[in-house]
Amino acid sequence: MSPVVRPAAREETACNLCGRRDEVVVGTRDRDGHPLRTVLCRACGLVWTNPRPTAADMNAYYETTYRADYKGQSAPPLRKIVRGFVGAADRRAMLRPFGARTMLDVGCGAGELVYLMRRAGVDASGLEPGRDFAGFARDVLRIPIQVAAVDAASVAPASQDLVTMFHALEHVPDPRVVLTTVRGWLKRGGRLVIEVPNIAARVQAPSHQYHYAHLYHFTGSTLAALGEAAGVRLVDTRYTDDRGNVICVFQRGDDEQRPPAGLEAEAERTLAALTSHTVLRHYLSPVPLTRTLGRLRRRLAENRLLRRFNSVDDVLRWADSLGTANPEHRT
Ligand SMILES: [Zn+2]
Repeated sequence: MSPVVRPAAREETACNLCGRRDEVVVGTRDRDGHPLRTVLCRACGLVWTNPRPTAADMNAYYETTYRADYKGQSAPPLRKIVRGFVGAADRRAMLRPFGARTMLDVGCGAGELVYLMRRAGVDASGLEPGRDFAGFARDVLRIPIQVAAVDAASVAPASQDLVTMFHALEHVPDPRVVLTTVRGWLKRGGRLVIEVPNIAARVQAPSHQYHYAHLYHFTGSTLAALGEAAGVRLVDTRYTDDRGNVICVFQRGDDEQRPPAGLEAEAERTLAALTSHTVLRHYLSPVPLTRTLGRLRRRLAENRLLRRFNSVDDVLRWADSLGTANPEHRT
């Protein structure tokens, strides 16, 4: 594989949530040991990379090299596809109560969730800036997909009952503008579901906290406040079992953009959580062992499934059975 060229950090930005420049440095390296300056806003608690590459540089990076850089691969092998469908089946189950008839998955990757939602009768489509994964979604899964970032996408105003962003918002250069744009795609009363890593969770070793491709880091509070600032109303905040990811459910209502307020104490708590989370404490906690065991269990379950598959078509036949009686992905 050719060496990955990461765009240089050359743009200083104010806080995307509250607009201030009152920041404290919480990280100086990414998880690969490369220099990466990460700051926390004392006024609202948002955490972001500062300085960072320009938006144009990041867009070019996502179109071509991101998947290779992130996962060491540019086209999904069967294991990745199976893993994608297992995760997508869980997400579909979470989304089912919303009863959406139209849906757009922003940052849909290889498109597994869109595929499964369409199997459930939803008029679902995807948006994905990465060309390789979008090509798989279009050519193999045969789902409607636009190869574009949010700012270049063509989506009819007020056309969607549901917009989802699973692990996408932390990658965009201007999350507030992205959410404002996405809001306009929702019908009145439509839902916006966003899942991102929870920076306040102590599930990552301190040395692995910051990833080059994550420009922003959220807590439940800052993600909720960002949605409200973009003009969608918070309906619900949930966490995954280990609290490693946070999910906010928003609804399109009056479109009023409410500036963040009263987040100083929460910002202090996040800062304290980040600075007190030392390498020693991390490895003395049960978290590393629990995570290792969880990964091992998932890997073994995947291996059992993979023994049954010789081709993508086999995987798709299995995916078509997901969500019907006696689903086979829980082993
Ligand atoms: Zn701020």
